[in-house]
Amino acid sequence: MKDIAKKSNTEYLLNKYHLKASKKFGQNFLIDLNTIKKIVEKTPIDNQTCVIEIGPGIGALTEQLAQKAGKVICFEIDTRLKDVLDESLSEYHNVDIIFQDFLTVDLKKIVEECGYQKVCIVANLPYYITSDIIEYIIVSQAPLYSIHAMVQKEVAQKLTDENYTSPLTLMIKSVGNISLDMNISKNVFEPVPHVDSAIISIYLQNQYNPLLTQILKKSFTQKRKTIYNNLKELFNENTNDILLKCDIDIKKRPEQLTVNDYLKLTKYL
Ligand code: SAM
Repeated sequence: MKDIAKKSNTEYLLNKYHLKASKKFGQNFLIDLNTIKKIVEKTPIDNQTCVIEIGPGIGALTEQLAQKAGKVICFEIDTRLKDVLDESLSEYHNVDIIFQDFLTVDLKKIVEECGYQKVCIVANLPYYITSDIIEYIIVSQAPLYSIHAMVQKEVAQKLTDENYTSPLTLMIKSVGNISLDMNISKNVFEPVPHVDSAIISIYLQNQYNPLLTQILKKSFTQKRKTIYNNLKELFNENTNDILLKCDIDIKKRPEQLTVNDYLKLTKYL
């Protein structure tokens, strides 16, 4: 089908297959072709790129990605969408759809074996697991070029705010740069969600250091306590010494440390 995102086409497909958007799977389908075209235009995708899409839904974004990319590999959790996707994307022979929870996918293996040097992730993410998915992608150490994700506007603002620090923002900073590319009105979705959305892009430059997860988990156990108190359990009587060697003030709170501070600390694990 051409232009799946047109309201009439989306309605036709949902009616034909008796589909109701599932709340459980965070389904809000994009129903504005121009918005989808703008999103795809802003990505660095060409015919030498493999795109991994998380949650194709009924294929509205997938269709536009397939027109630009060499290959599109989609992971969709909702098996009810199989028949509709078979129809909506039947003309696109460069699209593979795998019905699997993305959070169980061996992403590194998929990326390394897809046959493309340049691999980007593009997704209109289900809101209920946005952070889990971004963390999963980063921690996977998959050699990706970039990630382009639609998330709640508030989440996008937090993730890109220089003054906001969380374990996830530190993980992102450790691998590359994040930016907020464009805001998206809630009115271009069906059903209409409660809040507006935004697209964030992360361009990856460094491989993820898996020890960072351990350090961050311990450091943010109690956000209001000092870094010394949080790390005491991990480094015992050496805590003071290690913080000193890393040039970190023991009285600082976990959100006051930089990503480089945390990377220095991983050397003492
Ligand atoms: N891409 C479509 C669009 O833009 O219209 C649908 C986006 S909708 C917000 C999120 C999609 O992610 C749904 O199709 C949902 O079934 C799927 N999904 C939710 N959780 C998932 C998971 N853990 N793994 C893979 N897909 C998931």
